Formats: sequence, structure tokens, C-alpha cells
Amino acid sequence: MAASPVRLSRSGAPVRVSFEFFPPKTEEMERTLWEAIGRLEPLRPDFVSVTYGAGGTTRERTHATVERIARETALRPAAHLTCVGATRAEIDEVVRGYAQAGVGHIVALRGDPPAGAGAPYRPTENGYQSTAELVAGIKAIGDIEVSVAAYPEKHPQSPNLLHDIELLKRKVDAGADRAITQFFFDNGVYLRFVDVAAAAGICIPIVPGIVPVQNFKQTAGFARRAGASVPAWLAERFDGLDEDPVTRRLVAAAVCAEQVVDLIDRGVRDLHFYTMNRADLVFAICHLIGLRAREAAPTASSARALAGGEAATAQPATR
Ligand code: FAD
Repeated sequence: MAASPVRLSRSGAPVRVSFEFFPPKTEEMERTLWEAIGRLEPLRPDFVSVTYGAGGTTRERTHATVERIARETALRPAAHLTCVGATRAEIDEVVRGYAQAGVGHIVALRGDPPAGAGAPYRPTENGYQSTAELVAGIKAIGDIEVSVAAYPEKHPQSPNLLHDIELLKRKVDAGADRAITQFFFDNGVYLRFVDVAAAAGICIPIVPGIVPVQNFKQTAGFARRAGASVPAWLAERFDGLDEDPVTRRLVAAAVCAEQVVDLIDRGVRDLHFYTMNRADLVFAICHLIGLRAREAAPTASSARALAGGEAATAQPATR
């Protein structure tokens, strides 16, 4: 009998995925985003999240994107929300608005200052003073799922990893349901972080954030700003491919597949992909771990993205 293509986690349960998008700035970016959503929707992710620009700069675009996902697709959207540049009353209003629009999941963050990630952070007057306060504020509004961020290689502004673990514990004590990590390339770093968190009494899922390397130079730049290390072996794999996009993409798929399969083999059940609003690499990795599209009733977005072609939803291929 042929082996099932579904990759099972160590517990025997199928692997679950979630996808992160950012709100588009232009009409062309909007088209790219909705093509990506249309392609990935049939994989039935656990949820999809939409980021919130540094300093709250994408407030309207984030809301519009999240609410459109809720309205027009079968996906469960999560809205990123930060403490930056808004009072508690304003933030609470946004959360209530999301709840009314059927969005019951917030990714709660401190956020970076408008001047950028490296600039000193000052809490807003009458605003939430910390992410833990924001988590508690959201939970006080209603039955809303809350995810928070975690940093396996420590946050760039943090004095040490234990300080971050302490802050993560506060977010958990305030009601966070799940942590999603900053991306990393060395799985050992993530697994050690999960162990340290568990030893500190943190028992919510800590979902690894996975970034497929769409463009090595750009990813290395993000990594530098995010405090994520780029191993020498990774740079070597992309060395010499600047002018060769086809080979670069094949290498990117292989590198990401290796990372994801290793995580699953080491007991990870949930994976969060930073899609950069591009579906192809993520779709390929999901295929590799057994997620399949199957014919089903079309949703608005899948029908649009497939432009009259076959509409499909996905489920693990065992079903
Ligand atoms: P916390 O966990 O509360 O703290 C992280 C670190 O920030 C601490 O270690 C500490 O060093 C420092 N810190 C916290 N509070 C203070 C303070 N009052 N003064 C000085 N330093 C302090 N950013 C966005 O703007 N929009 C997004 O949509 C977004 N999405 C993200 C999604 C994920 C999965 C991740 C990992 C990050 C995301 N970020 C986003 C980035 C995040 O907002 C920044 O990393 C921010 O600096 C920390 O937010 P936090 O909620 O993780 O903070």
C-alpha cells in the first residue's frame, strides 16, 4: 500500500499551518495578495494573520484586509494589533469592531515606534503600557483568541533571553493562548527556547515562525533588524545565485523543506509561515508535508483567484 503523503507530528496528529500576510499599499500589491490568499485558502490553514504597520501606519489597510478575509473567504483571520500611538479606549474600540465583524483572534504586540525597530520605545499616554496589559485588555472585552510574539534569539532591545521569557510569561499570565516566534534558521535555537520557556512554566503552544527565503539579501536584512542570526551555511547555499532566480527558488524550497520536515520530525505540530504575500514556495512546502487541495464549494476568493478555473478547498490527503 502506498504511504500517505501526510506528515504527522510526533503525537500522530496532522500538522497544522497558519499564514501571515501584510496589508497591500497599491492596487497591484492588492492583486498579488488576493492571488496568494486564493491559492493558499484551499490548504485550510488553522488561521491567517494580517500585520499592522510599525507605528500603526497601516491601521485602515489592516482593518480592510482582515474584514474582507472574514467576509469573503472561509478562512479564520487574525488581526495584528499594537500598543503604539493609540489610547486604550481607541484600541478597545478596534477590538470590539473586529469582534462585530466576526474576527475573534488578535495577535497582540507592543509594536515598534514610528521611527523604526531600533528607535527608543515610549508607551503612549493613556495607552496600554505593555503587551501583557494589551492582552488582558482584549481578554476583558470578550471571548477573543490572543496570540503573542516570542523571540527564540531574544528581542533586539532585550538585555538577555531570560528577560524575554519573563515578558512572555507575563503575556501568558494575562491570557495569551499561543505564541508565534520570530523567524529563525537554526532549529536548535527554537527547540532550546521552547525548553527554557517550559521550565519557566509557559505551557501555551509556541509556534515556530518560518520564513521561506524569497530573496536572500532582503531576508538577511530583515534578520539583522529582527536579531535573527543567519548561519554561514545558509549564506553559502545562496552564494552566486543573485542573477539566477530559477535556481534561487529551487534552493529556497529545498532549504525551507529541510527546516520544516526537521521540525516536524522533532515533534512540532504547528507551523506559521511568513508568506510575504507570495504563495508559491509556501504552497509547495505545504504540499510536501501532505496538505492537499480538493474540490469543494468555491469561496468568493478562491473562485476569483482561480478566475473561472476549478475551485477547491484542501484537506490532509488521508481524508
Ligand atoms: P514584548 O514581548 O512585550 O517585549 C519584547 C521586548 O521589547 C522586550 O524584551 C523588551 O526588550 C522590549 N520592551 C518591551 N516593553 C518595553 C518598554 N516599555 N520599553 C523598552 N523596551 C521594551 N510589529 C508591528 O509593528 N506590527 C506587526 O504586525 C507585528 N507583527 C509581529 C508578529 C510576530 C510573530 C513577531 C515575532 C513580531 C511582530 N512585530 C510586529 C514586531 C513587534 O511589534 C516588535 O518586535 C516589538 O518591538 C515587540 O513587541 P512584543 O509584543 O513582542 O513585545
